[in-house]
Amino acid sequence: MQFKSIIGQEGAKARLLTGIRENRVAHTQLFLGPEGSGSLALAIAFGQYINCANRTETDSCGTCPSCVKFQNLAHPDLYFYFPTTTTNTVKKDPRSSLFLNEWREYLDENYAYATQSGWYEHLKVGNKQGYIRKDDANELIGKIALKSFESEYKVVIFWMTERLNETASNKLLKTFEEPPDKTLIFLVAERYELLLATVRSRAQIVKVPALKESEIAAELVRQKGVGENEAAQVAMLATGNWNQAVNLLENTEDVQANFIRFRQWLRLCFRPLDYVDLNKFNGELGRMGREKQKSFLQYGLEVVHSSILLNQGNENLLKKNGEELDFSMKFAPLVNTANQLEIYQLFNEAIYHIERNAHGGILFSDLSFKLHDLLAKGRKQIVK
Ligand SMILES: [Zn+2]
Repeated sequence: MQFKSIIGQEGAKARLLTGIRENRVAHTQLFLGPEGSGSLALAIAFGQYINCANRTETDSCGTCPSCVKFQNLAHPDLYFYFPTTTTNTVKKDPRSSLFLNEWREYLDENYAYATQSGWYEHLKVGNKQGYIRKDDANELIGKIALKSFESEYKVVIFWMTERLNETASNKLLKTFEEPPDKTLIFLVAERYELLLATVRSRAQIVKVPALKESEIAAELVRQKGVGENEAAQVAMLATGNWNQAVNLLENTEDVQANFIRFRQWLRLCFRPLDYVDLNKFNGELGRMGREKQKSFLQYGLEVVHSSILLNQGNENLLKKNGEELDFSMKFAPLVNTANQLEIYQLFNEAIYHIERNAHGGILFSDLSFKLHDLLAKGRKQIVK
């Protein structure tokens, strides 16, 4: 993985390179970035750069033996730790080293833009969540005590460090605090608040922001051959998340499906509640897969965003037409200063809980009652 194949993130790349030039690379670094920002890819590229035999000022060469092994994710001095769980083939004591083939396959498929739900889907474990456990910690401590095999630096990458359980992290605190000589530890994580405080305090943070809409759009055109209009529309819905953009693209009919579903759901939430119809509909939403539920709510966030634009008279910024535009125009007045922030937070929290395995049916009925009240607040504001 070379820096040049990572989307955007010019600021983070520059900071990493400056660190090397000025000879101040921290032993333990926390690559902190939301899903789809490319934080894992960046950590891999940084490790490759550090060990490249012919690196330039700005990138690794991509062709020296070290780079080739890094690109195959099979360098003997590159270690990965990531959440695992029991599967059909590993029935007990799961740990990262038992899943390296699956891991390489998975990263290969998406150029190291990994997501938790994508990884679990790849392992075919449904909604089961993984952990990084004490067996991982013990193995790592044993391995890094040895000298490196080929390169100057051993590179240890933890992905989804949030999933490091407490026993494992206690075992690793010393390692994070002071790794053996010539060992770099990159902790990749999405949510700072979910990391154990003891882990946070031992790492230097490398901030990896969500991607810009323009970066996603340009990459969709370049990598996927998408037309510019479609790329702009998908990028807008992707909320800075490359994986989300790819998902949307693969399911372009989802945009239409989301629109129809969302309009129907809002009607049910807005009217005096008809519990039979509403429960039935919420049940259907609850039975959709997690990714579909997330994409549905992301569509909801985008509708809120469009309403704010419309209310401010910025219709020209809206990338909608036909029925979807009609719907937005009718809906926009109901979203106003009385409720816009709360609706936004409500959808964001729901996405957060879906990622954490909330029960879909319960989540959507809770959400629809709250939305019903919030829409009533919005209507009152108009009447005033
Ligand atoms: Zn190289």
